Amino acid sequence: MQDIYSGFSEKMQYQAAPEAGVAMTCDWPVGGEKLPISQWLGAQVRLEFTGAIHCCNCGQATKRSYSQGYCYNCFKRLARCDLCMMAPTRCHYDKGTCREPQWGESFCFAPHLVYLANSSDIKVGITRPGQEFTRWTDQGAEQGLVILYTDTRQLAGALEATLGQWVSDRSNWRKLISEPATPIDLRVQADALLSRLAKLPTGAALAPSQQPQQLTYPVQGYASPKSLKLKAGEAVEGELLGIRGQYLLFAQGALNVRNLTSMAVTITNLSGSSEAKLSRSTTESASNRAQSVADDDSQMELFN
Ligand SMILES: [Zn+2]
Repeated sequence: MQDIYSGFSEKMQYQAAPEAGVAMTCDWPVGGEKLPISQWLGAQVRLEFTGAIHCCNCGQATKRSYSQGYCYNCFKRLARCDLCMMAPTRCHYDKGTCREPQWGESFCFAPHLVYLANSSDIKVGITRPGQEFTRWTDQGAEQGLVILYTDTRQLAGALEATLGQWVSDRSNWRKLISEPATPIDLRVQADALLSRLAKLPTGAALAPSQQPQQLTYPVQGYASPKSLKLKAGEAVEGELLGIRGQYLLFAQGALNVRNLTSMAVTITNLSGSSEAKLSRSTTESASNRAQSVADDDSQMELFN
């Protein structure tokens, strides 16, 4: 197996497990290659950021990454980077101010679904049909259940907001990286919540009654409830304890791979390489260099 992967980072992708209770496998696209990161569990891993960032839309070099991987121009110009992507009830297409009306018509004025998931606790969210596995695994949800289908993104967002009176629409990332989710009977919760909706609006329908999906992550151990940040010239290094959602779990904290989108990184499996011996003696100082970010890791809730 290759020990070093270098290049621009994209978010990690999970493959469904062959049966319930078996951990999913996970790949991390780096430099156009697929790093089989779930096979690196238990290995001593070093992550470095070269300092180079290129926009995931136009490819231009950019000093900063906006909206997880875009240059400033694309961030200001693209509808997918607009505030209404995070808050669909703030859709402003009907005011004639959509940044990209054609994109909006094909993306937002298309079927969506409302789901319940259990990541750190029960939460409500929306996505497009067929995207629910990607959405749930991005969030590190251990259970997921589709409860409603709608004709548009805006309507899904409105129903999400209504259901949001009774359940959260956010995950608690500290819990997510430091402990497993407590199982929840999402079917029972869904039936109770849906019975509180007086009447479904036109363009919305109940999803066929089904059992929740169970998702098991490649996790041998959990992280301290701290967010690690990868800075140019400073390595993050440690034994990879687990992968949950877009987080890599290390004893000293977790690193959100989603935040590395479009950044040039070098990822080394020190346990598999000739550097192993050298590295073990320097592990402690490297871990100490890992920066812990104060509070805000809220960007993980970006749409996909
Ligand atoms: Zn760009």
